[in-house]
Amino acid sequence: MTPAVSFTKVSRHFGTVRAVDAVDLEIQPGEFFAMLGPSGSGKTTCLRLIAGFEQPTAGHIRIFGEEAQGVPPYRRNVNTVFQDYALFPHLNVLDNVAYGLMVRGIGRAERHKAAEEALALVRLPGFGARKPSQLSGGQRQRVALARALINRPKVLLLDEPLGALDLKLRESMQEELKILQTSLGITFVFVTHDQGEALSMADRVAVFNEGRIMQVGTPQDIYQKPRSRFVADFVGSSNVLPPDFVQRYAGQRRWGSLRPESIRVARQAAGEGVQARVVALNYLGSATRLSLDAGGLRLHATVPAGAALPEPGEHVALTFNREQLHLMEEGA
Ligand code: ATP
Repeated sequence: MTPAVSFTKVSRHFGTVRAVDAVDLEIQPGEFFAMLGPSGSGKTTCLRLIAGFEQPTAGHIRIFGEEAQGVPPYRRNVNTVFQDYALFPHLNVLDNVAYGLMVRGIGRAERHKAAEEALALVRLPGFGARKPSQLSGGQRQRVALARALINRPKVLLLDEPLGALDLKLRESMQEELKILQTSLGITFVFVTHDQGEALSMADRVAVFNEGRIMQVGTPQDIYQKPRSRFVADFVGSSNVLPPDFVQRYAGQRRWGSLRPESIRVARQAAGEGVQARVVALNYLGSATRLSLDAGGLRLHATVPAGAALPEPGEHVALTFNREQLHLMEEGA
């Protein structure tokens, strides 16, 4: 299958800053693909390269097999939803949504009909006459989405589109975006620095650091089998274990990672397992997170709601199944 988007050794340098550095990447048609990474890791630059707002300093980008070099943004069959939505304040919702069609010279009746359909798609029928200032943040977000979907692009680029929303709304929009993407079958490329968001929505996730992709995989792969310390640290709340520790419990001198939920905590000091002292407890609702000091190594364990909890300062024994201890390929 021809990839929707492919990068071959793509770089974008700004002077000495390697915003994107020799990236290879393939995004499949119909995929919900997340670009995840800390601030400044190159995610937005990658998105802008796909959109055509930015040109690579080296390498090749292909969109559905076609070389993108020299193809202007409006001819790429790719639309973008920006974090700040970029709605025109003086236009009403219908004209905001229809804007792209107007620019292309589509007649008023036809473009308004298409805009009504796009508004229905994002569950905002009947909002056409309002100005953006008369909408809530979540509604503005949907208008921006409708505007980007009106001409059914093959690829939709979303740059932290939920960043401005409160947690509750964010969660319901995550669900809606996922449903919309599945029903439309459009390739979504989604930029976020929120690992929970990437894991919950994406079919595959690329983890970025310093202009490079550290790992690409399904959310399960990324979460359960991080290849490097960076990925283990950045995705979720893994315990990163140094080679000495791993050698003692798994017989190999490699870096390891162990999820907090894989650790069992027994309230007897001299019992079997790793001896540790409870430093702090954080109540999370569905579970309680323990911070532990195991001979100078800081570990975290989650105890499900309802289970007996140790006290701060108490000595406990930690056990885990050997299969839960993931050995990493790289120390970096
Ligand atoms: P964020 O999550 O904060 O948006 P990001 O991962 O999207 O970050 P980019 O915006 O792609 O990161 O930036 C990557 C690097 O490139 C940063 O160091 C940034 O300062 C630099 N950069 C981006 N655009 C430019 C530019 N036009 N000129 C100079 N440097 C730039």
